[in-house]
Amino acid sequence: MKNKAVFFDRDGTILEMVYNEETEIIDSPSRPNEVRLSPGSIDVLKQLKSLGYLLVLISNQPGIGIKKLTEQNFEKIRRKFNEELEKGGVKLEKEYYCFHHPFAQIEEYRKKCNCRKPGIKFFKDAEEEFNIDLSKSWAIGDGVNDILAGDKAGTKTILIANLLESAYLSIIEDKLKGVKPDFIVKKPKEIISIIRE
Ligand SMILES: [Mg+2]
Ligand SMILES: [Zn+2]
Repeated sequence: MKNKAVFFDRDGTILEMVYNEETEIIDSPSRPNEVRLSPGSIDVLKQLKSLGYLLVLISNQPGIGIKKLTEQNFEKIRRKFNEELEKGGVKLEKEYYCFHHPFAQIEEYRKKCNCRKPGIKFFKDAEEEFNIDLSKSWAIGDGVNDILAGDKAGTKTILIANLLESAYLSIIEDKLKGVKPDFIVKKPKEIISIIRE
């Protein structure tokens, strides 16, 4: 029997975004003391695990390459994130991170790769490594790329539209180019009743 999995995005999905006072935008955490799990996420992850899903994280992290984040802080954030999950009794099967960006300032990361979502390289890697049936699996995230990647990989998709407003939604619809998320929720805790069905 093949396994089923939930592929989670990290920033804005399991981890809260942070208001950056310097740049005045809401962004991914860039320091370890900014690491906060989204409300309800521990509960959701635990319940999915008890429903038999593997928990796999796939995250675009272009910050190092575009010099918004140091390598050390990336690693500290990653560790803190995992510690917070552990405190809640959750362990992820695996974390996949893409550090590439087509316009990265640091050359080693400047690349048009297949692992950056909407690319699906990490979905395929996980499919093989964990013997996953993608058609019985889910991709969940707060961004267009999460939905496009899940759709392309053949999973079902849930968009967490935590800034849901009609203007925002129409921008998203535009970027989705005809791809429809299977479900749109406002809060992570809504995920359980959808997946349990
Ligand atoms: Mg995100
Ligand atoms: Zn990549």
